[in-house]
Parts: sequence; structure tokens; C-alpha cells
Amino acid sequence: KGKTFFIDQTRCTACRGCQAACKQWKKLAADETVNTGSYQNPPDLNGHTFKLVRFNEVEVDGKLKWVFFPEQCRHCLEPPCKMMADAFIPGAIIQDEATGAVLYTEKTKDLDYQTIREACPYDIPRKEESTGLLTKCNMCIDRVRAGMLPACVKTCPTFTMHFGDRDEMLAIARARLAEVQKTSPAALLADSDLVRVLYLCEVHPSHYHHHMVADAGGATDRIGPFSRRALLAMR
Ligand code: SF4
Ligand code: SF4
Ligand code: SF4
Repeated sequence: KGKTFFIDQTRCTACRGCQAACKQWKKLAADETVNTGSYQNPPDLNGHTFKLVRFNEVEVDGKLKWVFFPEQCRHCLEPPCKMMADAFIPGAIIQDEATGAVLYTEKTKDLDYQTIREACPYDIPRKEESTGLLTKCNMCIDRVRAGMLPACVKTCPTFTMHFGDRDEMLAIARARLAEVQKTSPAALLADSDLVRVLYLCEVHPSHYHHHMVADAGGATDRIGPFSRRALLAMR
């Protein structure tokens, strides 16, 4: 059944510890950025930023609310990026049997970047210009195989991030959802039957990001006939 993250966004304080831990563990280059008027920095994922805390100020029931979204690859159960890659270079994107982690190999250098990026319903893959590789979160597979937690999960000081066996994560996510729904009836677990990163959204998913859920009208629209569900049906 593999591994799964549970990310309880009701607890996230946007400290960005997870984002920094990811950079540190993976030895990823820093970005020189400018102040864009938001604490979100850098402004988007890139070839050497696999985890990004997105900041949004939204109006919910007439009140302003900060919502924070620690974004990363969802490690889809049936990953459309891999399905698309297999049509061109089999083995360029692989799925680890034990954990379910979706892993990008050296062969991603030879894939068409836009085609793979557009196949992802969450708009995750990026190209690292310095190496030509397509990149994203790899579930800290080296740490997980050694019995350690992913660096981002280990670092999170607020218990927003959890990681473990899928059944256990589903159970704690559903229990926490029931608790949150007592005061926020619209709360949900985004695409929990499709992905290995369970995001608990207290308010409508679109408030966090337009790619929070697969059917929110993002990449799935751009890839035309290769909609996510169509790709799944092709298997
Ligand atoms: Fe980064 Fe590892 Fe967390 Fe993925 S699991 S976002 S690679 S720290
Ligand atoms: Fe691939 Fe995107 Fe799913 Fe990650 S979220 S496994 S990049 S399709
Ligand atoms: Fe949120 Fe935890 Fe990441 Fe801090 S480390 S931004 S609290 S998920």
C-alpha cells in the first residue's frame, strides 16, 4: 500500500521550515529574489525548489483569512506524468514499488519539458536549466529507505506534516477532518483517493491555489484530450 503524507493545513503557520529543510537536505541552490509584496518566496516552484509555501489572503464569509499551502509533488497513485513519459522514453519516470514514490531519473533530460509539465494535473514538474533534468520532490526516498522521515516532515514544528504507511495516514487524516468539520463544515481532504499527499483544506481548495485539486480547471484544461481521467482510462 506504500507511504503517504498527511498535511493538516489548519496547523500551518507558514514558517517555511519545510521549504528550507528541503533545500538543505537536497543541497539545492538558493534563488536571488526581489520583494514582490508577498512573503511567498520564490514566487513559484522551479528546477531547484521542490517545496514552496504559498501564501494567500482570502475572504471567507466576509472575513479576511490567511491560508498557507506547503506545496510539493503529490506522488499520484497512478501518475499522469509517468504515463506520459512512458509513451516517449519508458523508464525515464519510475514509481518505487515499496513506497509508491514517483521518481524522475537521468533520462528525464531527453523528455519534452512542456509535455511532461502539462501532463501533471497539479503543475509540479520543472526543468533545472543547469543540468537539463526535469525535477520535483522525490519523497526523500534516500531517507525513507533508511527508515527516516522526509526532511520537510521531520522539520515541521507545528505537526502540520505527517508521514507514514498509507492506511495509518488515511485514518489520522479522516479523524482530523471530522474534528475540523465541526467548526468548518466545508473542510475536505483534497483528491485523497488519487494522491499520496493528503492536504486537509479548511476552506475551498481554490483559496489555496488553482492547482490544489486536479479538477479545479488548471493543467487538466491545458492538456486537452489528455485529461487526467482520460489518461487513467487509457491504462
Ligand atoms: Fe523536499 Fe523531501 Fe519534502 Fe519532497 S519529501 S518536499 S524532496 S524535503
Ligand atoms: Fe507526477 Fe504531478 Fe502526480 Fe507528481 S503530482 S506524481 S509530478 S503527475
Ligand atoms: Fe507549515 Fe510546517 Fe512548513 Fe512551517 S514547516 S511552513 S508549519 S508545513
